[in-house]
Amino acid sequence: MTELRLFNSLTRQIEPFVPVHPGEARVYTCGPTVYNYPHIGNMRAYVFADTLGRVLSYKGYKLNHVINITDVGHLTDDADAGEDKMEKMAAEKAQSIWDIARHYTEAYWEDIKALNIRQPAHWSIATDYVPAMIEFAKSIADKHCYELEGGLYFDTSTVANYGALARAKTEDGEGRIEEVEGKRHAADFAIWRKTPEGETRQMEWDSPWGKGAPGWHLECSVMSEALLGLPFDIHTGGIDHREIHHPNEIAQNQARCHSDSSGANIWMHNNFLIERSGKMSKSSGEFLRVQLLIDKGFHPLAYRLMCLQAHYRSELEFSWEGLQAAFVRLKRMVMGVENLRQKASSEPSGQADMSIYQADDRVSNDLNTAEVIVIVESIAAMKGYAQDRLDAIYKIDEMLGLNFASLTRQDLRIRPKAAIITEAEIETALAARKEARAAKDFARSDAIRDNLIAKGVEVMDGDPMGWDWRLDI
Ligand code: AMP
Ligand code: ZN
Repeated sequence: MTELRLFNSLTRQIEPFVPVHPGEARVYTCGPTVYNYPHIGNMRAYVFADTLGRVLSYKGYKLNHVINITDVGHLTDDADAGEDKMEKMAAEKAQSIWDIARHYTEAYWEDIKALNIRQPAHWSIATDYVPAMIEFAKSIADKHCYELEGGLYFDTSTVANYGALARAKTEDGEGRIEEVEGKRHAADFAIWRKTPEGETRQMEWDSPWGKGAPGWHLECSVMSEALLGLPFDIHTGGIDHREIHHPNEIAQNQARCHSDSSGANIWMHNNFLIERSGKMSKSSGEFLRVQLLIDKGFHPLAYRLMCLQAHYRSELEFSWEGLQAAFVRLKRMVMGVENLRQKASSEPSGQADMSIYQADDRVSNDLNTAEVIVIVESIAAMKGYAQDRLDAIYKIDEMLGLNFASLTRQDLRIRPKAAIITEAEIETALAARKEARAAKDFARSDAIRDNLIAKGVEVMDGDPMGWDWRLDI
C-alpha cells in the first residue's frame, strides 16, 4: 500500500501519517452543538471525518474515533461573546436544555445514518465530562489562568506561539474578539464562565471559581485527552475552527502537558459548503438539512457523493443542479454495479488485478476521493470478469462509503414529499400510454402524458439509463 500523506493545517504541509501508537489511529472530531438541526454544511465536516476514518481503517490501522456532542458552553459567537446557544434556544422554545439537546442529538444521529457515516468508537457528551473539565482547569489555573468577574480566563501569553495554527499573533485578536473588561490580551478566553450574581442557569456546576459552566474550548481538550490521551494522531473540524477554537484547544493542551506540543500530530480542516442565497443559515426558515434533500426526492448518498467529488480542502458551492448531477452519477454507478452483480452470477471469477492499487494511490495523496470515484466508474466500465470488478468496487467503497454492496436502483427512487401521485399510479398510467401508442391513439397518449406532467412527472422516453420517469417537484 502507498504511504498515507495528509495536509497538516499546523505546518501547512502534506506530511506522512505516522501513528503515535503503532498500528492505531486515534482521531478526534469536533462535533455539533445540539441547539438546532445540523445543516448540510455541518454534515460535510462529518462526511470528511468519516472518509478519513474509513481510509485509516482500509489501510489497516485500528481506528479509535471520537466525536463529541456539545450540549453546554458554546456561545453564539465563537470568540467568547454572546449567549450560550443551548440556553438561548431553550428559552425561545420554553423547553429544558436537556430536552433540546436530546431532540437535536437524535436528529443529528439520523443524518449520520442517512449519510452512511460510521459510528465512532465514542460519542462524547460534553456534560458527562464537567468534573473532568474542572480538574483540567484546576491543573492549569495557577500558571496559565486568571480570574475575572465573568470567570476563569486563559492567558494566551503563557504558552509558546499562541495562534500558530491560525497564523495569527496574539495582538491580531484585537479585531476579531470582543473585549471583556480586565482581559489581559484580546485573544484570552474563558475556560470557566461564572453564573452572574443573582441569576440561575439551567445548566450550572459548582467549581473553585463559583457556580457556572465550562468554556467550549475546554471541552474538546478534556474529552480528547480523556478518551485518546495526549498526544493523539489527528484532530479534525471545519475550517472556521482553525481560527479560534483549535488555537485555544492547542493553548490548553500545551499548558496541560507543560510542553509546546499541540496535542495532536496532525490538524485537519474541511473547507466550507457555501450557498449564495443564505439557505445554509439555521436562522433562515427552510434551511438546508439532509431531510429537506430527502423531501425533495434526493437520496442522501447523492449528497455524500457531491462532497466526495470535491477535495475536502476546497470550497464547495451547493446548488440543486449540482446535487441533481451527483444524483444522476450515483444512479449510473449503482446501475453499473447491479449489471455486474447479474453477470457475476453466471461467470467464473478470474482473480485479476483490478486497479485497487490506483485507488489506494489517489486516496493516499491527501484523500483525493474525486479521482477514486473516477476509478470506480472505469472499473464498472472496463473488460474483465464481473466478480473481480465487483470485488474491486466493494473494496474501494470501504473508503468512499457509498454503499455499493447493498444500494439498489429501487432505493434511489425517493418520492418527493410534495408528490401527489404514487409510483404505482405512474406505472399504471405509463402502461396505458404505451397501449395507446401501440394502437396509434396519439390523442389519448398525449393526454396521459399531460396529466402526468401536471402531477410533476417528467416522462423520459428513451432514457439511456432506462429510468423512464422522474418526479420533479
Ligand atoms: P457547529 O455545530 O456550529 O459547531 O458546527 C459543526 C461543524 O460543522 C464544525 O466542524 C464546523 O466547522 C462545521 N461547519 C459549519 N458550517 C459549515 C459549512 N458551511 N461547511 C462545512 N462545514 C461547516
Ligand atoms: Zn472542538
